[in-house]
Amino acid sequence: MSYVDEVIELVVKKNPSEPEFHQAVKEVLESLRVVVEANEEKFRREALLERLVEPERQFKFRVPWVDDKGQVQVNTGYRVQFNSAIGPYKGGLRLHPSVNLGIIKFLGFEQIFKNSLTGLPIGGGKGGSDFDPKGKSDREIMAFCQSFMTELCKYIGADTDVPAGDIGTGAREIGYMFGQYKRIRGVYEGVLTGKGLSYGGSLARTEATGYGLLYLTDEMLKCNGHDIKGKTVCVSGSGNVAIYATQKAQELGAKVVTVSDSTGWVYDKDGIDVALLKEVKEVKRARLSEYAAARPSAEYHEKKNGEHGVWTVKCDIALPCATQNELDLDDAKALVANGCIAVAEGANMPTTLEATEYLQANKVLFAPGKAANAGGVATSALEMSQNSERLSWSFEEVDSKLKNIMVNIFHNLDDAAKRYGAEGNYVVGANIAGFEKVVDAMTAQGIV
Ligand code: NDP
Repeated sequence: MSYVDEVIELVVKKNPSEPEFHQAVKEVLESLRVVVEANEEKFRREALLERLVEPERQFKFRVPWVDDKGQVQVNTGYRVQFNSAIGPYKGGLRLHPSVNLGIIKFLGFEQIFKNSLTGLPIGGGKGGSDFDPKGKSDREIMAFCQSFMTELCKYIGADTDVPAGDIGTGAREIGYMFGQYKRIRGVYEGVLTGKGLSYGGSLARTEATGYGLLYLTDEMLKCNGHDIKGKTVCVSGSGNVAIYATQKAQELGAKVVTVSDSTGWVYDKDGIDVALLKEVKEVKRARLSEYAAARPSAEYHEKKNGEHGVWTVKCDIALPCATQNELDLDDAKALVANGCIAVAEGANMPTTLEATEYLQANKVLFAPGKAANAGGVATSALEMSQNSERLSWSFEEVDSKLKNIMVNIFHNLDDAAKRYGAEGNYVVGANIAGFEKVVDAMTAQGIV
């Protein structure tokens, strides 16, 4: 049996009730097979893959808090410190009822490679709780966040482990957690990212994932002989990533003709009006039907069961920015039939495996989320740098660093794919490029 298959089998045996973790390990190791085979003897002797799939440390703890009726509630908190070979652990805190150890490990494992790809000194980690913030009062959210941080603060710090937001953890939760950390530990340091601007947050963090997606897409197109100017783009979603991806695409001279939300989608033949989109989604927090009602050039389509709508619109570039598995094989076929030349993932895992394979087989340029949406975590790392310096950089300074990072990411994965005979396969390139740096650091630091 090959070394990769042995390690996959070991992971399933050692972590029997963690299917998401098995899936993530399988996906990453499968795409690394060619690198592992080229170094098999050395990697086996050093048990490199066994060390890579075993978190350095993991914490599971009780989070008791009192609800508005005076009832005590108990949730479970997690922090998995997966790999610190290239820097302090970095990764978000997910607050969602579906959270369990397997999900946190799957996210933490993926984070190692994404963080490595940014070229910045950040290791991989992830955490969270099965707490559901939906429908809770402000006081209940604060009570939970304070109790969660009372335990978590023992294991994190600006130079050891720096959590960030994720699903369910926004600016409000980060604020409450930061306040409690400071109160217990008595230090004012950049222990969390995604902070408000008045207490150490970074300018351009809000825009970073969407802008970064376009910087990478632009570079990918240029290197393949295309110009983004004048291209028609379909975007899905209308949240943080989608809004700023749309804005940057239009700034670069493309025309974005669609956006969507969980109830429907909009086709705007004149190009999406970003100011109106922000007003509807960020200010009024309304449905997209309100966008169409205010804009004569726009059509609104109610979402039908099993259909993803936006991908049936003719476009040159598709940017899925909503949610996981939102672009399936039928959608990929429609895109190819309509002459689409590039797909870049703003969301995490929006394209199904079959759809990715179909797009690649039909010569559509495909940038995986691990690379294409890394602008968010990269800018979090820039927030850490500003906190260490006790300085705040201007918007332009952060934005220009973000652009450099995204351009470098593209070249790293392009080079890695070429070196291993998979030219143009940016999925393989992303995993290899992320892996190589971590392996190099792990080897240099000895058996730890
Ligand atoms: P938001 O919650 O701001 O926006 C999500 C958008 O997707 C909303 O418009 C939502 O619609 C829409 N949506 C949700 N489910 C569906 C569905 N089934 N069909 C169509 N639209 C849907 O999230 P973000 O923009 O922050 O994140 C989007 C994706 O990007 C996620 O996968 C996230 O993990 C990933 N990501 C985000 C980063 C960030 O910095 N924000 C960084 C890296 C990755 P509605 O308005 O109806 O809820």
